[in-house]
Amino acid sequence: MIADPRGIGMTSQRTRDRLIQRLQERGIKNIHLLAVMRQCPRHLFVDEALASRAYEDTALPIGLGQTISQPYIVARMTEILLQDGPRNKVLEIGTGSGYQTAVLSALVPRVFSVERIAPLLKQARERFYELKLNNIRLKHSDGSWGWPENGPYDGIIVTCGAEQIPPTLLEQLAPGGRLVIPVGGSKGQILKVIDRVGGKFEETEWDAVSFVPLLSGQIG
Ligand code: SAH
Repeated sequence: MIADPRGIGMTSQRTRDRLIQRLQERGIKNIHLLAVMRQCPRHLFVDEALASRAYEDTALPIGLGQTISQPYIVARMTEILLQDGPRNKVLEIGTGSGYQTAVLSALVPRVFSVERIAPLLKQARERFYELKLNNIRLKHSDGSWGWPENGPYDGIIVTCGAEQIPPTLLEQLAPGGRLVIPVGGSKGQILKVIDRVGGKFEETEWDAVSFVPLLSGQIG
């Protein structure tokens, strides 16, 4: 559970419940995930000026040209990632606000997350500290390289759009592991799922999505 240290704050439980109802209407079924998202204080992951819009099902700006993902997309990708097998250790590429990371941290024993923009990472770190989410490890780096020292991972989730699937991420998947990644250019991507089955990688295509691009190098 993710306890909001400031109480329910400026957003009523009814507003949050309405968001969860919408996620269910759109087909999200994982009850543990829905319970976590019902209770996760998304308004703490955006600027105070945007807090009143935090429980709308939309992406919102988080500064530095980046966005906090739309709740439906967070739910959809998390549901897909957690299906078909235990995921004890998960790597996320693109920490951003930290919202997706926080949702994962309530569902998975160990979460690793990599972000290329230092000020975003710092802010996310402060949020995790305040929310007492202590199973998250963060790294300032270009996530195209993954985080080999802690691999292999049972799940890898990429929350920015990649032109191609970075081969290094495939190498860091454990047997039975699953990679969820938006693949395509700036005009939009397809959500792809790659499962490591024995010595092979099996790829399936899911929804059309629209993420900020995966960029190389690091800032700050
Ligand atoms: N999961 C985040 C999504 C943030 S937007 C959230 O819910 O808030 C995507 C993030 O990916 C941005 O913060 C961007 O800086 C980051 N990103 C883009 N390319 C990256 C790369 N190569 N390595 C690590 N992070 C990257």
